[in-house]
Amino acid sequence: MTTVKEQKIEKLETKREYYQMIINGERVDSVSGETFTTYNPATGEPLAKVAKATTEDTDRAVEAARQAFEKGKWRRYPINKRSRVLNKIASIMRSRFNELVELEVLNSGKSLTAAQGQVNQSIEDFEFYAGAIVGHRGTVNNMPGGFFNYTQNEPVGVCAQIIPWNYPMMMAAWKIAPAIAVGCSVVIKPASLTPLTAIVLAEICHEAGVPEGVVNIVPGPGALIGDHLAEHPGVDKVAFTGSTPTGKDIMKKASQTLKRLTLELGGKSPNLVFEDADIDAAVDGSLFGIFYNTGQSCEARSRLYIHENVYDEFMEKFVAKTKKLTLGDPLSQSTHVGAIISRGQLEVIDGYVKSAIEEGATILHGGEEVKVEGFENGYWYAPTIITDVTPEMKVVKEEIFGPVVVVQKFTDEKAVIKEANNTEFGLGSAIWTKDQGRATRVANQIEAGIVMVNCPFSAFPGTPFGGYKQSGFGRELCIETLDLYTEQKSVISYYGSRPINPFGV
Ligand code: NAD
Repeated sequence: MTTVKEQKIEKLETKREYYQMIINGERVDSVSGETFTTYNPATGEPLAKVAKATTEDTDRAVEAARQAFEKGKWRRYPINKRSRVLNKIASIMRSRFNELVELEVLNSGKSLTAAQGQVNQSIEDFEFYAGAIVGHRGTVNNMPGGFFNYTQNEPVGVCAQIIPWNYPMMMAAWKIAPAIAVGCSVVIKPASLTPLTAIVLAEICHEAGVPEGVVNIVPGPGALIGDHLAEHPGVDKVAFTGSTPTGKDIMKKASQTLKRLTLELGGKSPNLVFEDADIDAAVDGSLFGIFYNTGQSCEARSRLYIHENVYDEFMEKFVAKTKKLTLGDPLSQSTHVGAIISRGQLEVIDGYVKSAIEEGATILHGGEEVKVEGFENGYWYAPTIITDVTPEMKVVKEEIFGPVVVVQKFTDEKAVIKEANNTEFGLGSAIWTKDQGRATRVANQIEAGIVMVNCPFSAFPGTPFGGYKQSGFGRELCIETLDLYTEQKSVISYYGSRPINPFGV
């Protein structure tokens, strides 16, 4: 056991050798003195050391968040003042844009352009909620004469926010911005593989004027720290993004104290190309839909359905463009596809591809680990296209979370909708057609939280993001997210001239 070293937060270098936790507005070591190493997936080399939280550290973080919530000034600030601080966070992030992008690339192995887009969106999330909170109002409701009812939104309290490794900074922004906008306090548990940008974001929150205890961050093992937070009696709400099995586990634990819960989970999103589609646009959008972020996206359009009349034309162009994708230095502007997050994840992906081969599928392109010049010890997997699949195959049913797409041919609109919905998930989906009537008809029947029509993008600040079925519940990134961080209080009053005597005694 070592003494906890505490340091006030001031502007720090974004890139450094050691990152501490943040508890009660201070950078602290773990009470155990332990650290863990985080790596650069593109090279396999160590990147930095990170303080490894224990359950004792986590208790301190929850207690700091509780004190800040109950006794602190943040939730009592006028809304405009909180809004100003959120805008300040955005402006500090903007001034450090290149540093944040570089750190995100180094810690995740993703391509520069992907990281640029995600850091930019993270900034816009804070700007969005800085505006949205000002218009987040209560209501006045119709009542019989003499009665008056209004509602007000009150912050739900201490929120544990557990996030995954695929969008390390963006997931932190999606969680922190709406929660602190309404006056909650948060304890963030980043993924152990990618904790760095979330830690820097928490530091920036303090630099911008968020008071101590409102934003705390405890990097550490999910099974220990995430689990402890999900069960913690001092936590009022858990907001989780990650895999469906972990989400189910958290739901069970959070139910013991009936915590509020938002779950953003896995997906296996269908991508439907109809015969009347603009084929070139559909090819480009489908390519981005699966290979963006190296396929490590919850909304990756990993099941591709092509109408038989355009199948050959589409596939010829799709394979040709897949061959043109560059895997290389993630910090280069010309790299399209970055590294896989870890050796373990690469093996999971390869295992799925091997299972497809065993079950009789054809690997049309890719299907193997690749060596990238200058990055020989990193984790790289070829963009992979699998055909001759059937709905029962593992690669069609399960989330692979890598650059792997399965392709099927269809003839009939009704049948393809049925097939698209033949999944336990319901996060994203895409439709390519020039017929507006068909687009609307199909969109109405797809069981998914997000439908992209002739569009490769799934999320903008302001658009609801979340799933149907086992992809979770609750919507993030939108105005309604503010409701998920508040309790609605209904105040009923009587102002009539005659006293009320309901019992009549
Ligand atoms: P994961 O479920 O393994 O981990 C997510 C987070 O939970 C990590 O911080 C991890 O440390 C923590 N955790 C692990 N075990 C825990 C436990 N028992 N109790 C509490 N916390 C625990 O997921 P991952 O591999 O980091 O991320 C990939 C998954 O995330 C994919 O399934 C992907 O679809 C999903 N995802 C969903 C969305 C969305 O918005 N729906 C967005 C991004 C990623």
